[in-house]
Order: sequence, then C-alpha cells, then structure tokens
Amino acid sequence: MALLITKKCINCDMCEPECPNQAIAMGSEIYEIDATRCTECVGHYDAPTCQQVCPIDKTIIIDPQHTESREQLWDKYVELYLVE
Ligand code: SF4
Ligand code: SF4
Repeated sequence: MALLITKKCINCDMCEPECPNQAIAMGSEIYEIDATRCTECVGHYDAPTCQQVCPIDKTIIIDPQHTESREQLWDKYVELYLVE
C-alpha cells in the first residue's frame, strides 16, 4: 500500500527529506505522497519512516485507494531503481 497524508498535516517539513524514494512533495496546501513512488519503505526500512518522523499522530495513513501486497511493493521498489 502507498501511504496518504491527511489534512491533519501541519506542513512541518519533517517527512519530505526522510523519504528514501523521494515520494513526498509539497502539494497545493499540504504535503502529498506520490503513490507511484511510495513503497511503504519496503526495500529501505522495516517500517514507513515518514510515519515515524511525523509529529502529529495518525496524519500519515494507509491509502485505501492504493492497496498493494508486499510483493507488489517490492516490484515497485525494483522498478524505481532499475529505471533511474
Ligand atoms: Fe516515502 Fe516510505 Fe513514507 Fe512511502 S512510507 S512516502 S516510501 S517515507
Ligand atoms: Fe505533515 Fe507529518 Fe509530513 Fe510534517 S511530518 S509535513 S505534519 S505529514
């Protein structure tokens, strides 16, 4: 699954530099996650690092529109780094 930043975001800038896939960027009002680049940190860390650094509880959640298996997340990770 990709993750989703909800409207609870206070634009503190903590998560964007921590994402290993450069999946987080400032949107029109709050930070947003590019679902095509978010692997839930599979390939890098044991847990989503953006969730760990976010100071506001439950701001970054699983995106119900982008549910993927762990295997699919691995495939996404491999594609990200083969293409670049
Ligand atoms: Fe980036 Fe990992 Fe957060 Fe996805 S879960 S946006 S890959 S830090
Ligand atoms: Fe928003 Fe949390 Fe990212 Fe800060 S760390 S910019 S509050 S999502």
